[in-house]
Order: sequence, then structure tokens, then C-alpha cells
Amino acid sequence: MGYRVGLTTTIPVEVIYAAGCVPVDLNNLFITDPHPGALVEEAELAGYPRNLCAWIKGIYGAVMKHSDIRVLVAVTQGDCSNTHALMETLELAGIKVIPFAYPFDRDRDLLKLQIEKLMAHFGVDWPSVERARERLDAVRRKVWVIDRLTWEENLVSGWENHLYQVNCSDFKGDPDAFEREVDEFLARARERSPRREEIRLAYIGVPPIMDDLYDYLEERGARVVFNETQRQFTLPYAAADLVERYRLYTYPYGIFYRLEDILREIARRGVHGVIHYAQSFCFRQIEDLIVRQKIRLPVLTLEGDKPGRLDARTRMRLDAFLDMLR
Ligand code: SF4
Repeated sequence: MGYRVGLTTTIPVEVIYAAGCVPVDLNNLFITDPHPGALVEEAELAGYPRNLCAWIKGIYGAVMKHSDIRVLVAVTQGDCSNTHALMETLELAGIKVIPFAYPFDRDRDLLKLQIEKLMAHFGVDWPSVERARERLDAVRRKVWVIDRLTWEENLVSGWENHLYQVNCSDFKGDPDAFEREVDEFLARARERSPRREEIRLAYIGVPPIMDDLYDYLEERGARVVFNETQRQFTLPYAAADLVERYRLYTYPYGIFYRLEDILREIARRGVHGVIHYAQSFCFRQIEDLIVRQKIRLPVLTLEGDKPGRLDARTRMRLDAFLDMLR
């Protein structure tokens, strides 16, 4: 196995696997740390402002903690403008940063060029990248089944749906081991009786920084049956061509393209209400006004700041939203 390569968000991870390296989604590394709050504090001690998104600070703290990650691929367009300053501070700390840009207008030629530049950096060719895609697609297809069992057969919880899909950004660094986990989960889930929550919810926006949202909703008779961004990490469209896959992937390409997918899925999944998660200090909060105009269902905009549990105010807002939906 080669060295570990950090990722600031989903990139064509096939390139990293084709090079024999191990991708590490830095968001997952941060949020699964035993003390994610301490990683945020670490960044603040280093000089990161208090009024900046905790995901960025957590990624910085995670890279500083894991000294075996010396190379990372940073998405400079299509994810987060804060990534630019993150890259610079990490470069200052001696980390090699490789930029990757999703073209704003989903231009196929530009996207192909970006992927080929990444391939040149890692010294891999198209046949090896295609082989990696076929391997990863086999795992992705199984995770699509988890998603279908969530909304169509009601056998999977919102948190489980979140977890398996979010891990498709890096396949936990070991697709074989991750596939075994997925297989075991699928076998268990198929043995279950269907769940009976009366309210079906969509969760849109970046993944939540708090870890008890899904459980809280389920304790109150509601379940998330559509996790928008997490599902995108599984590249849920079945085109065979790698460039096309990352062109159809909605997350990096602006709210109107994302909304096409959101509206299609909330109709297909029989959703009653939508939770739009907006991270504190995130530019994506501005898009909430577009979301509210375009979605013809009740929308609750939820804001999270630091990692941890739901605060009392957020719980009350969730309770009121569920009461209203009832
Ligand atoms: S939540 Fe928003 S501000 Fe934070 S890293 Fe993601 S895109 Fe950037």
C-alpha cells in the first residue's frame, strides 16, 4: 500500500486508488475523531478565526494531528472558498497540496483536463483509472441498495443511510474491507421488519456536524429517507464513463443543478418535509432563500456550529416542525 492522501471533499478517488495510495476524506477523519471539538480548538489556537466554519478548522486540526498525511488534494472550485486559505496554512506547515477544480458550468472538457492533471500528478493512465472505477462501482452499487432499502422498503435508519453513503467519498481507505461491512449490513437489514415512522423527511445540505440528529428525529416518529449530499458521494447515476460520472454528480455544481436532483428525489420518496442544514458561517446559507422558493414542501432551516449534540433550541425547533407536519 502507498502513502495516505488527504481529500477536502469528494474527488475522482479512482485516481488515488489507481496509484496504489490510500485516500482519506479529511471531513470523516475530523468528525470521527474521539475529540473533534479539540481539533477545532487546535485550529483556533493556531490563529483560525472564531467566526469561521468548524469543518474547515476541524480539517486543519485533523491534518496537524495525523503526521502521516503529508499530501492532500484540495478542491479549489465547487466546494468551499475557505479551502484556499486552508491550503495556504497547510502549505505553511509543510503539507503538499494538489489543487482540483470542478468547472462551475459542468464543462466536460475542463473536467476531463482536471482529472488528467490529477492523473499526471499520480502517474496513472486511463486503463488503470477505469479498472479502479469498476472496482469502486461494484461497492457503490451495493450502497445504492442500502439507499433503496431506506426509502422503498423502510428497513434502514436515517443515520445508517447517512453513514454508508458518506463513506463512499474514500471507501474508508480500503474498498474490500468496506464492501464486507456493507455486505454484512445488507444481510442484517434484509432480516428486519419494516420501520413505521409516520413522517418522512429529506435532509439537504452538507452533512450535519452534530451526531444525534437522526436518532432524535426517529425517537419522535420521523425518519430521514433522503440524504442529499451523502447520496451524491455514491455517484448515484449509472453512466459508465468516469468523466460523465463526475459531471452528473451534483454537489460541486451550484444550487439549481442540485435542486433538479432534490425535487426528483423528494417526489419519488414520498417526503413530507425538508430539513435544510446550513453550517454556521458557511456561504451556502445564502442559498437557503433559493431552496425555500423552489421547494413546495415545508422546509426547516437548521444551523449547526460545533461538533457535538443538538442544542436545546434546535431540539425545540425540530419538535415544532414535526408537530406542524403532523
Ligand atoms: S460547511 Fe460551508 S463553509 Fe464549511 S467547509 Fe463546507 S462549504 Fe465550506
